[in-house]
Amino acid sequence: MTHTSSHGMTVNDFGLDHAHWRNWVGNQSCVRAARAAPTSEDELCALIAEAAGKGMNVRVAGSGHSFTPVALTSGLHLTLANMKGVKHIDHDKRRVTAAAGTTINELVKVLKAEGLSMINQGDIDSQALAGALTTGTHGTGARLPVLADAIVGMKLVQPDGSILTVDESTPDLLLASRVSLGVLGAISEMTLQLRDSYNLRERIWREDFEAAMDMHDELAEKHRHFSFFWCPYEESRHCYCLPDTSATSKTGRTTDVCEMKVMDISDDQPFEAGFEKVAYSSDVYPIEYIANFHELEYAVPRQHGKDAMRAVRRLMLESFPEAIYPVEYRFTAGDKAWMSPFYQQDSVTVSVSGEPGKDYWDYLRAVDRILRDYGARPHWGKMHFLTGEDVTEIYPRANEFRALRRKLDPQGIYLNDHLSQLFR
Ligand SMILES: Cc1cc2nc3c(=O)[nH]c(=O)nc-3n(C[C@H](O)[C@H](O)[C@H](O)COP(=O)(O)OP(=O)(O)OC[C@H]3O[C@@H](n4cnc5c(N)ncnc54)[C@H](O)[C@@H]3O)c2cc1C
Repeated sequence: MTHTSSHGMTVNDFGLDHAHWRNWVGNQSCVRAARAAPTSEDELCALIAEAAGKGMNVRVAGSGHSFTPVALTSGLHLTLANMKGVKHIDHDKRRVTAAAGTTINELVKVLKAEGLSMINQGDIDSQALAGALTTGTHGTGARLPVLADAIVGMKLVQPDGSILTVDESTPDLLLASRVSLGVLGAISEMTLQLRDSYNLRERIWREDFEAAMDMHDELAEKHRHFSFFWCPYEESRHCYCLPDTSATSKTGRTTDVCEMKVMDISDDQPFEAGFEKVAYSSDVYPIEYIANFHELEYAVPRQHGKDAMRAVRRLMLESFPEAIYPVEYRFTAGDKAWMSPFYQQDSVTVSVSGEPGKDYWDYLRAVDRILRDYGARPHWGKMHFLTGEDVTEIYPRANEFRALRRKLDPQGIYLNDHLSQLFR
């Protein structure tokens, strides 16, 4: 079964007809022994307790938009496509509680009508709330943390089918579970901190690479959101469906250029003209992609951002001229979630993609080597080469997280091979 997000992206929501499951982009798949789409929290709990009793592993898929094997299992595979919707809105505190299978675009339609907005969003809005937030999904903004920083509560289904309630009265559990990839339990609902509804003014234009580097700090400080796509070649922008900004170009070049974007809160009425627009926040954040790339994205300490970007650019131009996909460059503030790639570290994110069907592994490994030297931490939902030892080295709270995971799930029913390697 498929449906289309508010921004035209086709999403496979994995009807239960087939034992075989694949993620959206098609680079990860599994054959499931059992599959189900519970319609209530009680049913979810019963399914999990029964599977655990039989010694089966359990994974919950969100919208399947991760490039890594995080949602795979050969055991019981669950989709929460029938557990959607807003359960409660607290207007005083500006908080929403929603079922974990609700997608971001489904949530924000309700928020818009209620005079509320998410604090920040990423490039797409078709992910399920639990799927997006617990992999450390982020947008851009030097003072804006990872989206999971907005989680103030959630319900975690334990292997025996009981519910563990996490909220501000359990601060360690909250910080551990915000970015936990479902290994601390299946999430049935989440409560998120919001803010009053706001409009964003977006402006996009093109700059020379070095001009973009010169403006890097100033734009990051001056604007709520700043990001760019570095496009090595003219055809690069087509790989990510980026618009042709030649009309707002500040350079005569069409290769080795940056497609710049800034967004700020605006009191102006909605309008759209050329490469500038004002609209409700969630109508501005997402862009449209088609499933034609395999992405790696690492968070680099902000002070090394420009050097890391220059090194990746040099690598691509000099050693991998066939790597034509743009590099996306964004900003995220540090936060306190134990397994957040931005844990106590203001960062930039550098993302590259390989082309499906091509052997891009040498290229991705070369990017990995460069970014590791700058102390980078990979996005859990995008391609990476981390081992368990690497996780221990780059995440100061990794062993506490693993100890908590073992306490909650001693049999490891919520692990698969990939997650065992990282978190057992
Ligand atoms: C086109 C595209 C654009 C993207 N843009 C961005 C971006 O701008 N910023 C960014 O940071 N990332 C981005 N991503 C990455 C994406 O946000 C993450 O991979 C996210 O995890 C995908 O959400 P999902 O709902 O598809 O989750 P899935 O990939 O299905 O699952 C992710 C993880 O969450 C777990 N999970 C899902 N639901 C539950 C639940 N109810 N209980 C327990 N565990 C659960 C899964 O088991 C898995 O471990 C993008 C990906 C794509 C394909």
